[in-house]
Amino acid sequence: MSDVYAEPATAGEPTDPATLARYTTLRLGGPAGRLEIAEDAAQIVRKVQEAEAREQAVLVLAGGSNVVIGDQGFPGTVVLVRSRGFQAVAEEGDTVTVRVEAGEPWDDFVAATVDRGWSGLECLSGIPGSAGATPIQNVGAYGQEVAETIVAVEAYDRTERRVARIAAADCGFVYRGSIFKYSDRWVVLSVDFRLTRSPRSGPVRYAELARALGVEVGDRVPLAEARATVRKLRAGKGMVLDAADPDTWSVGSFFTNPVLPGEVFEQVRERAAEVGEPPHWPGADGTVKVSAAWLIDKAGFGKGYAGPEGVAISSKHTLALTNHSGSASTAALVALAREIRDGVQSRFGVTLHPEPVLVNCTI
Ligand SMILES: Cc1cc2nc3c(=O)[nH]c(=O)nc-3n(C[C@H](O)[C@H](O)[C@H](O)COP(=O)(O)OP(=O)(O)OC[C@H]3O[C@@H](n4cnc5c(N)ncnc54)[C@H](O)[C@@H]3O)c2cc1C
Repeated sequence: MSDVYAEPATAGEPTDPATLARYTTLRLGGPAGRLEIAEDAAQIVRKVQEAEAREQAVLVLAGGSNVVIGDQGFPGTVVLVRSRGFQAVAEEGDTVTVRVEAGEPWDDFVAATVDRGWSGLECLSGIPGSAGATPIQNVGAYGQEVAETIVAVEAYDRTERRVARIAAADCGFVYRGSIFKYSDRWVVLSVDFRLTRSPRSGPVRYAELARALGVEVGDRVPLAEARATVRKLRAGKGMVLDAADPDTWSVGSFFTNPVLPGEVFEQVRERAAEVGEPPHWPGADGTVKVSAAWLIDKAGFGKGYAGPEGVAISSKHTLALTNHSGSASTAALVALAREIRDGVQSRFGVTLHPEPVLVNCTI
């Protein structure tokens, strides 16, 4: 059984519209009006069109690792994306363009690229979910993000009712976002990545990863070593799904790192002076990205901080809110998120924003 989906629905397996909790890594979410499995791109398009013909709202759900679904569930049609496979579609010099179907489990795909000596995704090892969801929030970790290697996305355009090929430059990729996030217009069918034929990783950019590898920032390491080290670092933070570890029953980071205008960051720095210097990174146009985990911790919400019904901050990572008891409600998780957001706002004057997509719930 793959460790990618909370409860994988595979070909022939009966679907259970009674509770969407079964299909999310948080194990939260009420019933679906209707639940459909789509096993290839044509089926994805057809199931969406059929739901539209029934005048039902559509929720496209893949690995369920970046959604918070309300206790009332989703009254329309949920289309579970379960298309599989990838293939090299072009080769030029030392690059290879690989097309991956939307439902392919992301980490299986990354493993396959590493095995074949295709460099470019190795630092994104261990991230749950599907390949087709990676452009939605420009998935990133350990110094890499998919915007660097995606060349195009094939998507069904629900407005124009046709399949479109969207070049990377038109995807609007930003930190944890793109034109696809919070938009019902696009249903991703496949993604093209341009990777480099090389047994070595790209330059290691993330200091913690470089330290763990015993190299300097900027060095390259064998692909398999980069992958194994990233997975090990992630596992230590509860950031690789593990059915036996409730610290991983989350959506990963619940809040994005706030990106602040330079002068606002200086105010935060002053307010933080007595507890230390907030970890931060320079961004574009004088902006500064600040560590949300640090702000949360210093506002009094440390690892293991508990909310109602057994929801809690992960004992391994301050940014992960978990359904630790396995039996909480979305209302309880959202209450914890709200308490943390409000606490950080009143302590540092910074508003944190959720990273996952909220469906029929709000913080
Ligand atoms: C333990 C853990 C660690 C994580 N670590 C990271 C990390 O390091 N970096 C990071 O960026 N993210 C991380 N995440 C978040 C998540 O894994 C990624 O965002 C992932 O890409 C979501 O994929 P999914 O298939 O589970 O999407 P889902 O949760 O099924 O869907 C997420 C959103 O995308 C939409 N969507 C999904 N598939 C499609 C499609 N084919 N077409 C159109 N819309 C679609 C959904 O409608 C929904 O709005 C982590 C999550 C967990 C649980």
